[in-house]
Amino acid sequence: MRLTKITGTLAAVALAAALAGCGDDGGGGTDVKVADNPEFEAGSTMATLADAGEITIGVKYDQPGLGFLAPGADAPEGFDVEMGRIVAAALGISDDGITWKQTVSDNREPFLKDGTVDLVVASYSITDDRRTEVGQAGPYYETGQQLLVRTEDADSITTPEDTAGKKVCSVTGSTSLQRMEDEYGASPVPYDTYSECVDQLINGTVDAVTTDGAILLGYAADHPDEIEVVGEPFSTERYGIGFKHGDQAMCDFLKETLQTSFDDGTWAEAFDTTLGESGVDAPSTPTLDDACFTG
Ligand code: GLU
Repeated sequence: MRLTKITGTLAAVALAAALAGCGDDGGGGTDVKVADNPEFEAGSTMATLADAGEITIGVKYDQPGLGFLAPGADAPEGFDVEMGRIVAAALGISDDGITWKQTVSDNREPFLKDGTVDLVVASYSITDDRRTEVGQAGPYYETGQQLLVRTEDADSITTPEDTAGKKVCSVTGSTSLQRMEDEYGASPVPYDTYSECVDQLINGTVDAVTTDGAILLGYAADHPDEIEVVGEPFSTERYGIGFKHGDQAMCDFLKETLQTSFDDGTWAEAFDTTLGESGVDAPSTPTLDDACFTG
């Protein structure tokens, strides 16, 4: 996909400038139209949330462009955050009724299962394994795993095979770490968050960071002289919205809400004002999976 193909310092600088322009007051975001008293079947999760006028959504706080809480801001921003706002709005819930909850890769399933959050919108790849534990509606976005390295190594480490015997940082509970452990000869170094991995890369403790290109580009943009995204994507990551396993009515509602956002331009606007601020056109709309569960 086009976004993950942007590499190098120029793109990083463009994205940095663009993300800086997103504002840090926490009250930003696109103009999402909040539904006026939408009707849901009595007893459904949607009816409960709509009646309460409140929803708790798990997002990342340290991934620029996707889910990011700027210093001093009172709400996170990014493409995932916008998708969360779109779903809340379809429930008749405005920004005031949304509680954002910081989520890291490893607590997404536990948070959904124990009710800490109602939904997860957090660079959350759809996988068959995850769909046995939680529901995942989507995809609403596709990216692919790539490598982030120090600029001086950008010619010597360009493929996952080049990481054999090297220290590669990724995050516990992610598809990225799992793939490095299963498929390549690198020494994986696990952390809780990608921002911690980036710190380790910059201070020289690890040789590379690996995860989705969409995530890595945000970090490269923050440190354009020190680190860069290299090589081609070597996986396909399809982002979905997580919810409680077995809630078929929620699956149907999320699919309908996502499809409407694809059709009416809300999704494209959400992309354009977040990840797309790098100057990249919005990717074409993905095709939604029929099912949200396995098992
Ligand atoms: N999208 C991948 C995943 O869901 C990697 C990014 C992340 O850890 O959030 O595991």
